[in-house]
Amino acid sequence: MTANPTRVLVLNSGSSSVKYQLLDMADRSRLAVGLVERIGEETSRLAHTPLATGGAKREREEPIADHEAALQAVARELAADGLGLDSPELAAIGHRVVHGGKKFTEPTVITDEVVAEIERLIPVAPLHNPANITGIRTAQALRPDLPQVAVFDTAFHTTMPESAARYAIDVETADAHRIRRYGFHGTSHAYVSRETARLLGKDPSEVNVIVLHLGNGASASAVRGGRCVDTSMGLTPLEGLVMGTRSGDLDPAVIFHLARNAGMSVDEIDSLLNKKSGLIGLCGDNDMREIRRRIDAGDEKAALAFEIYVHRLKKYIGAYYAVLGKVDAVAFTAGVGENAAPVREAAVAGLEELGLAVDAGRNAVRADEPRLISPEHARVAVAVVPTDEELEIATQSYALVSA
Ligand code: AMP
Repeated sequence: MTANPTRVLVLNSGSSSVKYQLLDMADRSRLAVGLVERIGEETSRLAHTPLATGGAKREREEPIADHEAALQAVARELAADGLGLDSPELAAIGHRVVHGGKKFTEPTVITDEVVAEIERLIPVAPLHNPANITGIRTAQALRPDLPQVAVFDTAFHTTMPESAARYAIDVETADAHRIRRYGFHGTSHAYVSRETARLLGKDPSEVNVIVLHLGNGASASAVRGGRCVDTSMGLTPLEGLVMGTRSGDLDPAVIFHLARNAGMSVDEIDSLLNKKSGLIGLCGDNDMREIRRRIDAGDEKAALAFEIYVHRLKKYIGAYYAVLGKVDAVAFTAGVGENAAPVREAAVAGLEELGLAVDAGRNAVRADEPRLISPEHARVAVAVVPTDEELEIATQSYALVSA
């Protein structure tokens, strides 16, 4: 029997997928990582890499009917490497939960009451919260004795003042339907803002950071002394920056206009704005690598999509500079932020008066480590800080159960 279990299984359950990582918090190492995709289809796919044993990635395609079958398959893969869910070394299972509303401001040990509250939030997170609940219920059935922790994507943003969190609409209507700005990607914004402070050799309470999480979904946040004071996503992840397939900000009247003049239903407009807009709507591609390749080949549509993407990003940098008053660092993270040097260069181009600049040589360096890309002695640090949401979920879950 292990006296102090140190392993945490992190589960990120989507509507048809489960991503997982097993970490050992004794040394923050990753023991196994994997993904089950296309759950419920004939061609479900499981990819599992046992990092602890140095074994090769194992992939299999077989029908996996539901989340329960998916987690059982994951448990079998882990057991094959001696890392089974029945291991006494497992301290907790940490679940990424997308929407925690106003109530969940911290990682929370899951009880029936917690699940009921996540259920009550389904109207504001219809795609995500049901999948998260299924993941929780299934994991509970597999290991009823083990603490399960919910780590909410919204929690880091619950420190936003009302001036940033409220929409300027009728207060009674807003409150009756829980309409306010919640923000998402909170685990990433929390982790990256803290790692940026560490890169500067400071405590998070001493620095103001603008975090730009630019992945397929994208969001910006203004973090003052370690606390979020504004973020670009709102009631749902649709608001804010131009994303891979989401429009980000637009005049809400566009929706009435489409309903009245294009005869589109609410569901069609929802799908247009969430799935067929952003970069893919503008140029047909949502992968920044492909967009850059097309720009290099002289493609004007791709070039305009890039300009629109960067223009929005720059507006948010300026807005959050004003919100914070004083900025110590701007940190780029996630797939685009970590890899696309041209996006970083274009986003801060012309902002020298604000103390912001990118050193071309530093910006071109590719590395997995947090790094500065601003020139020596710059007034504001510009940094690339790789995000690690799974490590953050594991860290928060472990802190809670080992306290
Ligand atoms: P994420 O959602 O954080 O996994 O980011 C995924 C996105 O990152 C992809 O859709 C690409 O647009 C972008 N991306 C990933 N790798 C690169 C790269 N090497 N260069 C430019 N963009 C990249």
